[in-house]
Amino acid sequence: MGLLFSFPATAQWTEQNHAERFEQLGTMLRSPNVYRTASGAPGHMYWQQKADHEIEVELNDENQSIKGWQKVTYYNNSPDPLKYLWIQLDQNERAADSNTPKIAESSINPRMNLRQLENILWHDQDLGFKILSVKDLSGNDIPVTIVKTMMRVDLPQVLQPGEQTEFTVDWTFNIHDRMSFIGGRPGYEYFEKDGNYLYTMAEWFPRMAVYSDFEGWQHKEFVGRGEFALTFGDYKVKITVPADHMVGSTGVLQNAEEVLSSTELERWNRAQTSFDNPVIIRTQAEAERLEKQKARDKKTWVFHAENVRDFAWTSSRKFIWDAMAVKQGGNDVMAMSYYAKEANPLWEQYSTRVVAHTLKSYAARTFDYPYPVAISVEATNGMEYPMICFNYGRPDADGTYSDAIKYGMISVIIHEVGHNFFPMIVNSDERQWSWMDEGLNTFLQYLAEQEWDRDYPSRRGPAHKIAPYMASERYLLEPIMTNSENIIQFGPNAYAKPATALNILRETVMGRELFDFAFKEYSERWMFKHPTPEDFFRTMEDASGVDLDWFWRGWFFGTDPVDISIESVNWYKLDNRTPAQKKADEQKIAEREAAHIGQERNIKDIPQTEVEADPATRDFYNSYNPFSVTPEDEKAYKDFMDRLSQKEKDLLNSGLNFYEINFRNIGGLVMPLIIQFNYTDGTSEVERIPAQIWRLNEWEVTKVFAKKKEVKNIVLDPYRETADIDESNNYWPRAFTPSRFELFKSAGGVRGASMGDNPMKRARRR
Ligand SMILES: [Zn+2]
Repeated sequence: MGLLFSFPATAQWTEQNHAERFEQLGTMLRSPNVYRTASGAPGHMYWQQKADHEIEVELNDENQSIKGWQKVTYYNNSPDPLKYLWIQLDQNERAADSNTPKIAESSINPRMNLRQLENILWHDQDLGFKILSVKDLSGNDIPVTIVKTMMRVDLPQVLQPGEQTEFTVDWTFNIHDRMSFIGGRPGYEYFEKDGNYLYTMAEWFPRMAVYSDFEGWQHKEFVGRGEFALTFGDYKVKITVPADHMVGSTGVLQNAEEVLSSTELERWNRAQTSFDNPVIIRTQAEAERLEKQKARDKKTWVFHAENVRDFAWTSSRKFIWDAMAVKQGGNDVMAMSYYAKEANPLWEQYSTRVVAHTLKSYAARTFDYPYPVAISVEATNGMEYPMICFNYGRPDADGTYSDAIKYGMISVIIHEVGHNFFPMIVNSDERQWSWMDEGLNTFLQYLAEQEWDRDYPSRRGPAHKIAPYMASERYLLEPIMTNSENIIQFGPNAYAKPATALNILRETVMGRELFDFAFKEYSERWMFKHPTPEDFFRTMEDASGVDLDWFWRGWFFGTDPVDISIESVNWYKLDNRTPAQKKADEQKIAEREAAHIGQERNIKDIPQTEVEADPATRDFYNSYNPFSVTPEDEKAYKDFMDRLSQKEKDLLNSGLNFYEINFRNIGGLVMPLIIQFNYTDGTSEVERIPAQIWRLNEWEVTKVFAKKKEVKNIVLDPYRETADIDESNNYWPRAFTPSRFELFKSAGGVRGASMGDNPMKRARRR
């Protein structure tokens, strides 16, 4: 028992014993109402706003800028009169007065690179939106107030429930170099060798903020991390670019005959019935020719998109373009890729096929992909928009590539294409909850990777991979239910932990069938709607019939890790001995009690006396033998046996082994007990005990297991499915597993050279 005091890190002995971890979430969740039911479904008075856009935009390839005009039709489907509307001006994140650099911590390190230094120095490159006008349809100016990345439009008349209003916005902005220290999701990349640009245009027009029943206006400033909350609508967009550019975009191309050559048009038409292999519509040789010519005239591409929450596009004369068709329910979807020659041969081989695979894999767990196109663009990053996403994965200059690049590319394409489902269609609020799209998407990404290749080196998903994060020191952890901007270890918290939690729910807590049904139900209920965390938590329980409040509490609202220990195991057998066997055993015990080291040595060292050696004399001294069976013993045994039924006698003689196991919850996070019994005959068996065994004592439980066979050893969590951070106490008897230590030969300046961006180090410096 002395061991109990060797775990000072846990506060468990001062905490109350129970009545927390298994209580319903209750007031921790929003109350259900007519808009969102207690079952997690949209309520009978559910509503959401809508914003349709007509946009005309021109790309200036000479000075890398954008000039746009848009007409917005905003539908007030809410029950509330609106005096003003809020619009998002995300480009202002890079404007001179942005809060982004101001609220970023900085410090001087002994070794710094140029980019770190540039981040400290104030930068002003004339970036951010220039709003030229906001007008009503009669041409009158509408007063606006710009608050950092948000703009309030003060409507001339209150917009009543059920009404719609229209207004126009003129704007321009300079596109930034996203390969520079400013970074960011959209922007341009300049290719020095051929003097061409590749534009990825996102957050490029003033976008309507979301007004909802659960949050009112979502107008939290965009400071770079917490992504977007956006309103669904229909888009008609005209994009004017240099005539030799290839444009990929959200939506369906309306004027292919005008913008494609006759050869390209023929290939494009052929691609629409090619279900097995992509058709290359603009080849690498053709793109390389255009790279050199640089057209001076312009072309306008027209795209229409329905029921999208955003609109993004890409443009470059460097683009190779390929496409193939994919069946989705009754629809044929075009899976397509745009990439420069720098991305080949990798992209031509994989990208579009990965897009097609992703749609099929995700659709099986959610709903058929409802949009007409799904596009992957090579842009040295990873970012998602409806129907189009920007990904990375470039081989070396000589065309060779490592497995890391190849799998990195496949993973990021699956991930970003997968974002079409979460949050583009199941439209959660990314500004507030990163996990609702990143976590759910990373979970489905893991499943899609495993379907691509059963030995796929998935980075996130399997339970044991989250254990190092869960074992972080407390001040480096926040609950998953934390606003995006306030998370220290963003990747593990917003992507890996929720993805792992869902995988554990599926494999260990609910089972695949119940989980898959409930997850699909959530996806279908909230397709083209705005769900909240409550809607997800409630639907998963509602559809499966499994009470998961304890799981949400531990995994989503808490920071405790899993560390369950086998503290002790006692082995018992039923006493079915006859009086003679019993007495003989008692005699053995008594002799063992009497034995001591002196006696052991006396046998050898001291000669026997005559008296002791004579049996007659010894019997005189020992006339009473407590270990002999008396007639009373025999009678009591017979009476006992006579009273037993045959069933009871069988049980008594069954030879069962009883293993009384004591488990301790060292980590705090309650989880099911998965116990593997390895028997002396070489076979083994796994028992699964639900987490509720901890409900009366959250720190320590004891349970008896009856086994016909004799147990050689016991392993807790043998398949590593609970994310247990200390597996050394999962064995009985304890198993020795070697830890490794490195011999370190001091070579001045090597240590810490790569620590510059380590969040652990940054946080510790405080
Ligand atoms: Zn993502």
